[in-house]
Amino acid sequence: MLDDILTKPGPHISFEFYPPKDDAGLNRIYEAIGNLSRFVPDFVSITWGAGGSTIRKSLEIADHVTNQIGVLCIAHFTGLGMKKKDVDELLGELKKRRVNNILVLRGDIPHNMDREEAFHDGFEYASELVKYIRSKPKNDKKYLGILVAGCPEGHPEAPTLESDMNYTASKVREGAQGIVTQLFWKNDFFYRFTDEMKSRDIHVPISAGIMIMTKAKMIKKIIELSNCFVPEELNQAIKKYENDDASMEAYGIEYATRQVQDLLNHGFRRFHFYTMNRAKPVEAIILNLADSLCECRGVNVS
Ligand SMILES: Cc1cc2nc3c(=O)[nH]c(=O)nc-3n(C[C@H](O)[C@H](O)[C@H](O)COP(=O)(O)OP(=O)(O)OC[C@H]3O[C@@H](n4cnc5c(N)ncnc54)[C@H](O)[C@@H]3O)c2cc1C
Repeated sequence: MLDDILTKPGPHISFEFYPPKDDAGLNRIYEAIGNLSRFVPDFVSITWGAGGSTIRKSLEIADHVTNQIGVLCIAHFTGLGMKKKDVDELLGELKKRRVNNILVLRGDIPHNMDREEAFHDGFEYASELVKYIRSKPKNDKKYLGILVAGCPEGHPEAPTLESDMNYTASKVREGAQGIVTQLFWKNDFFYRFTDEMKSRDIHVPISAGIMIMTKAKMIKKIIELSNCFVPEELNQAIKKYENDDASMEAYGIEYATRQVQDLLNHGFRRFHFYTMNRAKPVEAIILNLADSLCECRGVNVS
């Protein structure tokens, strides 16, 4: 059961992958997941294209990770554009493949759709989807684990931070067992987020979403999409290493190592790494912090 995994002694680490475009990419992510499994993660999560664009691929990967690689897999599950019957069918498919844990999301509205089109026939908010799924006894937490997303800086569409924190808390009240956060590059946002949850009497495990900056071009795109705060130090690095991926990656690893160390120093022990389908940068960070992330759990990585 998901609760058993989330509440075992930490630190807790997990890795996120997305469905690659071709078979070569698929083999590469399976190899990457295999390599990262030596760190004994809680789970590997697989993203899901909102509106159904990657459903088949996501199902296939979740199946492979669960049944061939043997690592617990959490399938992301977006509500945008899905009818209740689609939700029931897809959950059935996941369970048939022994994928019994999901990360429930609203999903990002595709660029070629307007809001009305995106939601007229589906779930407008992740909380509605959690509520619907939990309304069925077969989806009780004994049989289906549910995580949800949280935005330490507030969701970009939310009118106020306060309202977004209230809605995030409501997803837990509807039955989610943990929160995985959006990426952030200033830890104060995460500390504030956990305080906001506590003040709403939400005490489920919260994993810090860690994104490693490995290519200046990619980071610029992520910043544009997520609207997240960029510390001046990082801005400078993006400019400096615009055409030097190797130095950008070395800096990104060093920055993320410092970020995770600071979170550990503040007593936080749950880390969800956005791998961007690459094992190497994440491995480097974990090895930099091997004593605090692995050895103390009895996981020998030397
Ligand atoms: C860890 C993580 C993994 C992700 N994986 C994927 C993925 O695989 N596929 C994908 O497409 N996207 C993914 N996303 C992106 C996510 O879909 C977007 O951030 C999306 O814009 C919001 O999703 P949500 O589940 O947080 O939405 P919600 O919790 O529904 O919130 C969306 C907005 O609606 C507001 N809101 C919520 N409830 C109400 C209400 N009752 N009334 C009024 N306003 C309300 C919130 O404040 C917020 O502004 C991921 C995000 C994270 C953090």
